[in-house]
Amino acid sequence: MQEEHGIEDSVEQFMRDAEAEVAMQRERYGIVWDAGLTRRFVEGSGDTYRFLRSNGVAFNRFIERPKQHTAHRMVDLDDTFSLQKAFLSAFEERGIEVRYGHRGRRLIVDAGRVTGMEVETPAGPSHIAARAAVVLATGGYQAGPELRRRYQPEHLAATPYLGVPTCRGEGHLMGQAVGGDLINMTMVQPLVIVGSALVEDSIAVNVEGCRFHDEAGPYDDRVAALLEQPDRSAFYVFDDITATNKRHLVDQMPRAAVSAPTLAELASLIGAPADALEATVREWNALVDSGATPDPAFGRVVMPVDRRGTTWDPSGRRPWCWE
Ligand SMILES: Cc1cc2nc3c(=O)[nH]c(=O)nc-3n(C[C@H](O)[C@H](O)[C@H](O)COP(=O)(O)OP(=O)(O)OC[C@H]3O[C@@H](n4cnc5c(N)ncnc54)[C@H](O)[C@@H]3O)c2cc1C
Repeated sequence: MQEEHGIEDSVEQFMRDAEAEVAMQRERYGIVWDAGLTRRFVEGSGDTYRFLRSNGVAFNRFIERPKQHTAHRMVDLDDTFSLQKAFLSAFEERGIEVRYGHRGRRLIVDAGRVTGMEVETPAGPSHIAARAAVVLATGGYQAGPELRRRYQPEHLAATPYLGVPTCRGEGHLMGQAVGGDLINMTMVQPLVIVGSALVEDSIAVNVEGCRFHDEAGPYDDRVAALLEQPDRSAFYVFDDITATNKRHLVDQMPRAAVSAPTLAELASLIGAPADALEATVREWNALVDSGATPDPAFGRVVMPVDRRGTTWDPSGRRPWCWE
């Protein structure tokens, strides 16, 4: 995709960016970095892209990350369900069977080798013998508060997470039980869930009704800016069009969004001065309309796709927000 857009990049350039990111994250977390694995990832990413494209996955556009990427690399996926379809058709071609509802519980070890797995199935406990190897690919452990408590401060270990409820870290534990090493477990990056899900379409305001950061900036900066607000609290304002178009994301949020007929009434719901909130949204809309990038206040470069601001009165559309 970079080639199609005339973007110059290289494995070495990626590796330099990765090294800089690792150096920065080392200030916060204990990091074990496997540079060889990162290199394999980046060397294979073109093939992965071509595989996905040829199996029907579409990408929309680049999402800029100027503070982390020296070339445009991150792309917006058109439809997340297309990934499942792509893999299922590739599995079918290769005769790979997918068994749903089978929950891995324990690795079976025989004479020092992993030879299979005990699983829970809808029909009861069972086991699967491995023909050659067992690969654990059970995702993260964000939905496992007990495991998170081992690596995160108590007040963070049970906070809402992004992703599926089945990623509880069971693969981590199964691997550890047979002598596997767990690395980078403390690197549980905090994130502002609202900002991530509707990153292009919302603005963050504090209790004064004013924007206070680059909503689409690096994850850590977003969290740091939020934590500096009174009561570590802020509101992410978006409009009715977004609420309708991104209903699936809006509904996934741990806390329900609130809406009101007008911005002034929304301001009163969240305890912010109405004139300040109206002025903030007006200013944002003017910036979006002007086509200017970056945002002069906070350097935001990720703008609404169609350069549509946050619409509310007089079009009669309701403004929404999340705390
Ligand atoms: C809302 C959201 C948006 C994202 N957007 C992006 C993006 O734009 N770009 C990007 O690069 N990444 C994005 N990510 C991150 C990306 O989805 C993950 O990095 C990626 O899915 C990880 O892949 P994985 O195969 O390691 O794990 P997963 O995709 O999490 O798959 C792990 C699977 O293992 C299953 N499992 C867990 N435990 C067991 C068990 N005991 N037995 C059997 N099965 C088990 C789980 O049910 C799950 O299906 C996003 C994530 C979320 C949640």
